[in-house]
Amino acid sequence: MKIAVLGAGAMGSMLGAYLQLGGADVTLLVRRKELADKFANPGIVMRSYTGADGEKSETAPIPMKASVGCEGLEKQDAVLIMVKGCDTKAALEGAASIIGDDTKIITLQNGIGNTDIIGETVKQENIYYGCVNMSAIMSAPGVLDTGLFGDVNVAFGSVVKGDEQKKFGDELANIFNASGIKAAYSEDIDTEVWYKLLVNIAVNAGCGLVRLRGGEAGNDQDFTLLAVDMLKEAIAVGMANGVQLDFNYFMTHILPVARKTSGLHYPSMAQDMLMKKAPTEIEFINGAIERLGKKAGVPTPVNTTISRLVRTIERNYDKQYKDKTGKTGPSFKVKIAEKFCKGCGYCIKYCPKKVLSAEDGLNAKGYVKVKVANEADCIGCLSCSTVCPEAAITVIKED
Ligand code: SF4
Ligand code: SF4
Repeated sequence: MKIAVLGAGAMGSMLGAYLQLGGADVTLLVRRKELADKFANPGIVMRSYTGADGEKSETAPIPMKASVGCEGLEKQDAVLIMVKGCDTKAALEGAASIIGDDTKIITLQNGIGNTDIIGETVKQENIYYGCVNMSAIMSAPGVLDTGLFGDVNVAFGSVVKGDEQKKFGDELANIFNASGIKAAYSEDIDTEVWYKLLVNIAVNAGCGLVRLRGGEAGNDQDFTLLAVDMLKEAIAVGMANGVQLDFNYFMTHILPVARKTSGLHYPSMAQDMLMKKAPTEIEFINGAIERLGKKAGVPTPVNTTISRLVRTIERNYDKQYKDKTGKTGPSFKVKIAEKFCKGCGYCIKYCPKKVLSAEDGLNAKGYVKVKVANEADCIGCLSCSTVCPEAAITVIKED
Protein backbone atom coordinates (compact mmCIF):
# COMPACT_ATOMS: atom_id res chain seq x y z
CA MET A 1 0.00 0.00 0.00
CA LYS A 2 1.40 3.41 -1.01
CA ILE A 3 0.91 5.85 1.86
CA ALA A 4 1.99 9.49 2.13
CA VAL A 5 2.10 11.15 5.53
CA LEU A 6 1.21 14.86 5.49
CA GLY A 7 2.72 16.56 8.49
CA ALA A 8 5.65 14.37 9.37
CA GLY A 9 6.44 15.99 12.71
CA ALA A 10 7.15 13.73 15.66
CA MET A 11 3.82 11.90 15.64
CA GLY A 12 3.48 11.73 11.85
CA SER A 13 6.98 10.42 11.28
CA MET A 14 6.57 7.83 14.05
CA LEU A 15 3.35 6.53 12.47
CA GLY A 16 5.04 6.58 9.06
CA ALA A 17 7.96 4.55 10.40
CA TYR A 18 5.61 1.97 11.92
CA LEU A 19 3.64 1.73 8.66
CA GLN A 20 6.89 1.12 6.77
CA LEU A 21 8.01 -1.50 9.30
CA GLY A 22 4.63 -3.18 8.71
CA GLY A 23 5.24 -3.38 4.96
CA ALA A 24 3.74 -0.20 3.48
CA ASP A 25 5.50 1.95 0.87
CA VAL A 26 5.64 5.20 2.85
CA THR A 27 6.63 8.74 1.88
CA LEU A 28 6.93 11.38 4.57
CA LEU A 29 6.09 14.91 3.46
CA VAL A 30 8.10 17.39 5.50
CA ARG A 31 8.70 21.12 5.62
CA ARG A 32 12.47 21.23 5.55
CA LYS A 33 14.92 19.61 3.18
CA GLU A 34 17.45 19.03 5.98
CA LEU A 35 14.86 16.95 7.82
CA ALA A 36 13.95 15.03 4.66
CA ASP A 37 17.68 14.24 4.23
CA LYS A 38 17.94 12.98 7.83
CA PHE A 39 14.83 10.81 7.44
CA ALA A 40 16.37 9.27 4.33
CA ASN A 41 19.88 8.82 5.69
CA PRO A 42 20.59 7.49 8.26
CA GLY A 43 16.83 7.28 8.92
CA ILE A 44 14.45 7.49 11.85
CA VAL A 45 15.52 6.11 15.21
CA MET A 46 12.72 5.41 17.69
CA ARG A 47 13.62 5.24 21.36
CA SER A 48 11.05 4.05 23.84
CA TYR A 49 11.23 3.98 27.59
CA THR A 50 9.93 0.86 29.28
CA GLY A 51 9.89 -0.19 32.90
CA ALA A 52 9.90 1.89 36.07
CA ASP A 53 13.68 2.28 36.07
CA GLY A 54 13.63 4.15 32.75
CA GLU A 55 15.01 1.19 30.78
CA LYS A 56 15.30 2.21 27.15
CA SER A 57 15.00 0.33 23.88
CA GLU A 58 16.10 1.79 20.58
CA THR A 59 15.47 0.76 16.96
CA ALA A 60 18.20 0.68 14.36
CA PRO A 61 17.86 3.65 11.96
CA ILE A 62 14.89 3.16 9.61
CA PRO A 63 15.65 4.89 6.28
CA MET A 64 12.47 6.51 4.97
CA LYS A 65 11.45 8.13 1.69
CA ALA A 66 10.89 11.80 2.47
CA SER A 67 10.03 14.73 0.30
CA VAL A 68 9.50 18.46 0.79
CA GLY A 69 6.76 18.75 -1.85
CA CYS A 70 4.63 16.32 -3.83
CA GLU A 71 6.46 16.79 -7.12
CA GLY A 72 7.35 13.45 -8.72
CA LEU A 73 5.08 11.46 -6.39
CA GLU A 74 2.41 9.17 -7.83
CA LYS A 75 -1.18 9.10 -6.70
CA GLN A 76 -1.28 7.35 -3.31
CA ASP A 77 -3.51 4.54 -2.04
CA ALA A 78 -3.82 6.42 1.24
CA VAL A 79 -2.83 9.76 2.70
CA LEU A 80 -2.41 10.04 6.46
CA ILE A 81 -2.98 13.58 7.72
CA MET A 82 -1.04 14.53 10.85
CA VAL A 83 -0.76 18.32 10.51
CA LYS A 84 -2.47 20.52 13.09
CA GLY A 85 -6.20 20.92 12.51
CA CYS A 86 -5.78 24.54 11.49
CA ASP A 87 -3.47 23.40 8.64
CA THR A 88 -5.65 20.56 7.33
CA LYS A 89 -7.26 22.52 4.49
CA ALA A 90 -3.96 23.95 3.30
CA ALA A 91 -2.18 20.59 3.54
CA LEU A 92 -4.88 18.90 1.45
CA GLU A 93 -4.70 21.62 -1.18
CA GLY A 94 -0.94 21.25 -1.32
CA ALA A 95 -1.27 17.47 -1.78
CA ALA A 96 -4.00 17.57 -4.43
CA SER A 97 -1.71 15.99 -7.05
CA ILE A 98 -1.26 12.74 -5.05
CA ILE A 99 -4.92 12.30 -4.14
CA GLY A 100 -6.92 10.32 -6.67
CA ASP A 101 -10.58 9.32 -6.78
CA ASP A 102 -9.88 6.18 -4.75
CA THR A 103 -7.28 7.57 -2.36
CA LYS A 104 -8.29 7.00 1.24
CA ILE A 105 -7.73 9.94 3.56
CA ILE A 106 -7.01 9.07 7.17
CA THR A 107 -6.92 11.62 9.96
CA LEU A 108 -5.48 10.71 13.35
CA GLN A 109 -5.10 14.36 14.34
CA ASN A 110 -5.89 15.78 17.75
CA GLY A 111 -9.39 17.02 18.42
CA ILE A 112 -12.56 16.84 16.39
CA GLY A 113 -13.77 18.67 13.30
CA ASN A 114 -11.09 17.55 10.84
CA THR A 115 -13.42 15.17 9.00
CA ASP A 116 -15.68 18.14 8.18
CA ILE A 117 -12.76 20.00 6.61
CA ILE A 118 -11.60 16.93 4.69
CA GLY A 119 -15.19 16.30 3.55
CA GLU A 120 -15.21 19.62 1.70
CA THR A 121 -12.96 18.11 -0.99
CA VAL A 122 -12.90 14.34 -0.41
CA LYS A 123 -15.74 11.81 -0.89
CA GLN A 124 -17.25 10.73 2.46
CA GLU A 125 -16.71 7.04 1.64
CA ASN A 126 -12.94 7.65 1.43
CA ILE A 127 -12.57 9.35 4.82
CA TYR A 128 -11.22 7.48 7.87
CA TYR A 129 -10.66 8.99 11.31
CA GLY A 130 -9.46 7.93 14.70
CA CYS A 131 -6.96 8.57 17.44
CA VAL A 132 -3.58 7.42 18.66
CA ASN A 133 -2.64 6.34 22.14
CA MET A 134 1.02 7.10 21.68
CA SER A 135 3.36 9.96 22.43
CA ALA A 136 6.32 11.18 20.42
CA ILE A 137 8.85 13.96 20.79
CA MET A 138 11.54 14.65 18.21
CA SER A 139 14.53 15.19 20.45
CA ALA A 140 16.90 15.64 17.48
CA PRO A 141 16.24 15.56 13.73
CA GLY A 142 15.16 12.00 12.98
CA VAL A 143 15.37 10.85 16.63
CA LEU A 144 12.03 10.15 18.27
CA ASP A 145 11.34 9.50 21.94
CA THR A 146 8.17 7.48 21.86
CA GLY A 147 5.65 6.02 24.27
CA LEU A 148 2.76 3.60 23.76
CA PHE A 149 -0.23 3.42 26.05
CA GLY A 150 -3.67 1.87 26.21
CA ASP A 151 -4.76 -1.52 24.91
CA VAL A 152 -4.93 -0.24 21.34
CA ASN A 153 -2.35 2.25 20.06
CA VAL A 154 -4.09 3.25 16.83
CA ALA A 155 -7.89 3.07 16.77
CA PHE A 156 -9.77 4.24 13.71
CA GLY A 157 -13.03 3.91 11.83
CA SER A 158 -14.67 5.39 8.77
CA VAL A 159 -17.25 8.09 8.13
CA VAL A 160 -19.26 5.69 5.92
CA LYS A 161 -19.68 2.19 7.33
CA GLY A 162 -19.65 -0.58 4.73
CA ASP A 163 -17.85 -3.69 3.47
CA GLU A 164 -15.43 -1.67 1.35
CA GLN A 165 -14.47 0.52 4.31
CA LYS A 166 -14.05 -2.47 6.61
CA LYS A 167 -11.85 -4.22 4.04
CA PHE A 168 -9.51 -1.23 3.76
CA GLY A 169 -9.65 -0.60 7.52
CA ASP A 170 -8.62 -4.17 8.33
CA GLU A 171 -5.84 -4.02 5.74
CA LEU A 172 -4.42 -0.85 7.28
CA ALA A 173 -4.75 -2.24 10.81
CA ASN A 174 -2.87 -5.38 9.70
CA ILE A 175 0.01 -3.23 8.46
CA PHE A 176 0.26 -1.43 11.80
CA ASN A 177 -0.03 -4.72 13.70
CA ALA A 178 2.74 -6.29 11.61
CA SER A 179 5.01 -3.48 12.79
CA GLY A 180 4.62 -4.43 16.44
CA ILE A 181 2.05 -1.89 17.64
CA LYS A 182 -1.62 -2.60 18.23
CA ALA A 183 -4.17 -1.16 15.83
CA ALA A 184 -7.85 -1.82 15.19
CA TYR A 185 -10.49 -0.68 12.72
CA SER A 186 -13.80 -0.18 14.46
CA GLU A 187 -17.26 0.61 13.17
CA ASP A 188 -17.95 2.42 16.45
CA ILE A 189 -15.00 4.77 16.78
CA ASP A 190 -16.61 7.91 18.21
CA THR A 191 -16.31 6.85 21.86
CA GLU A 192 -12.56 6.24 21.46
CA VAL A 193 -12.10 9.56 19.66
CA TRP A 194 -14.02 11.44 22.34
CA TYR A 195 -12.06 9.84 25.19
CA LYS A 196 -8.86 10.98 23.47
CA LEU A 197 -10.44 14.42 23.01
CA LEU A 198 -11.15 14.50 26.76
CA VAL A 199 -7.44 13.92 27.47
CA ASN A 200 -6.62 16.93 25.26
CA ILE A 201 -9.36 19.00 26.90
CA ALA A 202 -8.04 18.21 30.36
CA VAL A 203 -4.48 19.39 29.69
CA ASN A 204 -3.65 21.07 26.37
CA ALA A 205 -5.02 24.61 26.56
CA GLY A 206 -4.73 24.73 30.35
CA CYS A 207 -1.01 23.89 30.24
CA GLY A 208 -0.50 26.62 27.63
CA LEU A 209 -2.25 29.16 29.84
CA VAL A 210 -0.47 28.26 33.08
CA ARG A 211 2.85 27.47 31.32
CA LEU A 212 3.33 24.06 32.92
CA ARG A 213 4.01 20.52 31.71
CA GLY A 214 1.10 18.06 31.88
CA GLY A 215 2.40 16.30 35.00
CA GLU A 216 3.23 19.55 36.81
CA ALA A 217 -0.21 21.02 36.12
CA GLY A 218 -1.90 17.76 37.10
CA ASN A 219 -0.31 17.97 40.56
CA ASP A 220 -1.95 21.31 41.24
CA GLN A 221 -5.32 21.13 42.95
CA ASP A 222 -6.85 24.19 41.27
CA PHE A 223 -5.73 23.05 37.83
CA THR A 224 -7.30 19.65 38.48
CA LEU A 225 -10.59 21.25 39.55
CA LEU A 226 -10.56 23.37 36.40
CA ALA A 227 -9.88 20.28 34.25
CA VAL A 228 -12.77 18.44 35.93
CA ASP A 229 -15.14 21.33 35.11
CA MET A 230 -14.04 21.28 31.47
CA LEU A 231 -14.40 17.50 31.29
CA LYS A 232 -17.91 17.47 32.75
CA GLU A 233 -19.07 20.02 30.19
CA ALA A 234 -17.41 18.10 27.35
CA ILE A 235 -19.00 14.82 28.43
CA ALA A 236 -22.43 16.49 28.51
CA VAL A 237 -21.84 17.80 24.99
CA GLY A 238 -20.64 14.38 23.77
CA MET A 239 -23.68 12.65 25.29
CA ALA A 240 -25.99 15.24 23.68
CA ASN A 241 -24.36 14.25 20.39
CA GLY A 242 -25.05 10.56 20.96
CA VAL A 243 -21.59 9.51 22.21
CA GLN A 244 -21.62 7.28 25.30
CA LEU A 245 -19.02 8.57 27.79
CA ASP A 246 -18.49 7.82 31.47
CA PHE A 247 -16.75 10.39 33.69
CA ASN A 248 -15.64 7.87 36.35
CA TYR A 249 -14.29 5.45 33.76
CA PHE A 250 -12.32 8.29 32.14
CA MET A 251 -10.85 9.50 35.44
CA THR A 252 -9.87 6.02 36.67
CA HIS A 253 -8.87 4.22 33.47
CA ILE A 254 -7.88 6.68 30.76
CA LEU A 255 -6.45 9.85 32.30
CA PRO A 256 -3.96 8.09 34.64
CA VAL A 257 -2.53 6.04 31.75
CA ALA A 258 -2.19 9.12 29.53
CA ARG A 259 -0.54 11.06 32.37
CA LYS A 260 1.99 8.28 32.95
CA THR A 261 3.43 8.51 29.46
CA SER A 262 2.88 12.11 28.45
CA GLY A 263 3.00 14.07 31.71
CA LEU A 264 6.69 14.92 31.32
CA HIS A 265 6.39 17.36 28.44
CA TYR A 266 4.40 20.37 27.29
CA PRO A 267 1.31 19.36 25.30
CA SER A 268 1.38 20.47 21.66
CA MET A 269 -0.85 23.51 22.21
CA ALA A 270 1.34 24.67 25.08
CA GLN A 271 4.39 24.26 22.81
CA ASP A 272 2.67 26.42 20.18
CA MET A 273 1.85 29.11 22.72
CA LEU A 274 5.40 28.99 24.02
CA MET A 275 6.69 29.50 20.47
CA LYS A 276 4.02 32.17 19.82
CA LYS A 277 2.52 30.18 16.97
CA ALA A 278 -0.97 30.90 15.68
CA PRO A 279 -3.48 29.57 15.13
CA THR A 280 -3.32 26.84 17.76
CA GLU A 281 -5.57 23.77 17.82
CA ILE A 282 -8.03 25.46 20.21
CA GLU A 283 -10.93 25.32 17.72
CA PHE A 284 -10.56 21.54 17.47
CA ILE A 285 -10.46 20.94 21.23
CA ASN A 286 -12.13 23.31 23.75
CA GLY A 287 -13.46 25.49 20.92
CA ALA A 288 -15.18 22.42 19.43
CA ILE A 289 -16.95 21.83 22.76
CA GLU A 290 -18.04 25.48 22.81
CA ARG A 291 -19.38 25.18 19.22
CA LEU A 292 -21.11 21.81 19.62
CA GLY A 293 -22.49 22.83 23.04
CA LYS A 294 -24.12 25.91 21.52
CA LYS A 295 -25.71 23.75 18.80
CA ALA A 296 -27.00 21.18 21.27
CA GLY A 297 -28.15 23.72 23.86
CA VAL A 298 -25.60 22.50 26.45
CA PRO A 299 -23.94 25.32 28.44
CA THR A 300 -20.13 25.29 28.27
CA PRO A 301 -18.98 28.34 30.27
CA VAL A 302 -15.60 26.92 31.31
CA ASN A 303 -14.56 25.65 27.88
CA THR A 304 -15.80 28.91 26.35
CA THR A 305 -13.71 30.95 28.81
CA ILE A 306 -10.60 28.86 28.14
CA SER A 307 -11.12 29.17 24.38
CA ARG A 308 -11.54 32.93 24.62
CA LEU A 309 -8.36 33.27 26.66
CA VAL A 310 -6.33 31.21 24.19
CA ARG A 311 -7.74 33.14 21.21
CA THR A 312 -6.90 36.43 22.91
CA ILE A 313 -3.35 35.29 23.58
CA GLU A 314 -2.72 33.99 20.06
CA ARG A 315 -4.08 37.17 18.48
CA ASN A 316 -1.84 39.36 20.63
CA TYR A 317 1.49 37.56 20.93
CA ASP A 318 3.26 40.63 19.63
CA LYS A 319 2.05 42.79 22.51
CA GLN A 320 2.75 40.48 25.44
CA TYR A 321 5.32 41.03 28.15
CA LYS A 322 7.71 43.24 26.23
CA ASP A 323 11.24 43.14 27.61
CA LYS A 324 13.42 46.21 28.05
CA THR A 325 14.35 46.23 24.37
CA GLY A 326 10.71 46.13 23.32
CA LYS A 327 11.08 42.60 21.90
CA THR A 328 8.32 40.13 22.71
CA GLY A 329 9.81 36.98 21.26
CA PRO A 330 12.06 35.61 18.54
CA SER A 331 12.32 37.29 15.12
CA PHE A 332 12.11 35.37 11.87
CA LYS A 333 13.63 35.84 8.41
CA VAL A 334 11.40 34.74 5.54
CA LYS A 335 13.13 33.93 2.27
CA ILE A 336 11.44 33.13 -1.02
CA ALA A 337 13.54 31.39 -3.67
CA GLU A 338 12.16 33.09 -6.75
CA LYS A 339 13.62 30.46 -9.08
CA PHE A 340 11.28 27.84 -7.59
CA CYS A 341 8.17 30.01 -7.01
CA LYS A 342 5.28 29.33 -9.38
CA GLY A 343 3.08 32.15 -8.10
CA CYS A 344 0.26 29.95 -6.80
CA GLY A 345 -0.41 32.38 -3.94
CA TYR A 346 -1.03 29.71 -1.28
CA CYS A 347 1.58 31.28 1.02
CA ILE A 348 -0.19 34.64 0.84
CA LYS A 349 -3.56 33.05 1.48
CA TYR A 350 -2.49 31.00 4.51
CA CYS A 351 -0.17 33.44 6.30
CA PRO A 352 -2.11 34.43 9.46
CA LYS A 353 -0.15 37.68 9.87
CA LYS A 354 -0.29 39.01 6.28
CA VAL A 355 3.49 38.95 6.03
CA LEU A 356 3.45 38.04 2.33
CA SER A 357 1.79 39.80 -0.56
CA ALA A 358 1.69 39.82 -4.36
CA GLU A 359 3.88 42.38 -6.05
CA ASP A 360 2.99 44.18 -9.26
CA GLY A 361 4.48 42.52 -12.31
CA LEU A 362 5.74 39.00 -12.95
CA ASN A 363 8.90 37.25 -11.85
CA ALA A 364 11.64 36.11 -14.26
CA LYS A 365 9.73 32.92 -15.04
CA GLY A 366 6.50 34.77 -15.79
CA TYR A 367 4.70 33.97 -12.57
CA VAL A 368 3.09 36.33 -10.05
CA LYS A 369 5.82 37.83 -7.87
CA VAL A 370 5.53 37.23 -4.12
CA LYS A 371 7.19 39.65 -1.74
CA VAL A 372 7.93 39.55 1.97
CA ALA A 373 6.09 42.74 2.85
CA ASN A 374 5.91 42.63 6.59
CA GLU A 375 8.71 40.48 7.99
CA ALA A 376 8.60 42.04 11.47
CA ASP A 377 5.11 40.58 11.97
CA CYS A 378 6.18 37.00 11.19
CA ILE A 379 5.53 34.64 14.12
CA GLY A 380 7.37 31.68 12.62
CA CYS A 381 4.25 29.50 12.31
CA LEU A 382 5.65 27.89 9.10
CA SER A 383 2.21 27.82 7.43
CA CYS A 384 3.75 29.39 4.31
CA SER A 385 6.56 26.86 3.96
CA THR A 386 4.19 23.99 4.76
CA VAL A 387 1.73 24.93 2.09
CA CYS A 388 4.21 25.95 -0.62
CA PRO A 389 4.07 23.15 -3.22
CA GLU A 390 7.46 24.15 -4.62
CA ALA A 391 9.39 24.24 -1.31
CA ALA A 392 10.34 27.79 -2.24
CA ILE A 393 10.06 29.31 1.24
CA THR A 394 12.49 29.11 4.13
CA VAL A 395 11.69 30.60 7.54
CA ILE A 396 14.69 31.06 9.80
CA LYS A 397 14.51 31.91 13.49
CA GLU A 398 16.96 34.59 14.54
CA ASP A 399 18.57 34.75 17.98
S1 SF4 B 1 6.04 31.78 9.02
FE1 SF4 B 1 5.17 32.27 7.02
S2 SF4 B 1 2.94 32.01 7.29
FE2 SF4 B 1 3.83 32.15 9.36
S3 SF4 B 1 3.72 34.32 9.90
FE3 SF4 B 1 5.73 33.99 8.97
S4 SF4 B 1 5.45 34.45 6.80
FE4 SF4 B 1 3.41 34.18 7.66
S1 SF4 C 1 6.33 30.85 -2.68
FE1 SF4 C 1 5.37 28.83 -2.92
S2 SF4 C 1 3.29 29.07 -2.10
FE2 SF4 C 1 4.11 31.15 -2.42
S3 SF4 C 1 3.38 31.68 -4.46
FE3 SF4 C 1 5.42 30.81 -4.72
S4 SF4 C 1 5.05 28.63 -5.15
FE4 SF4 C 1 3.14 29.45 -4.29
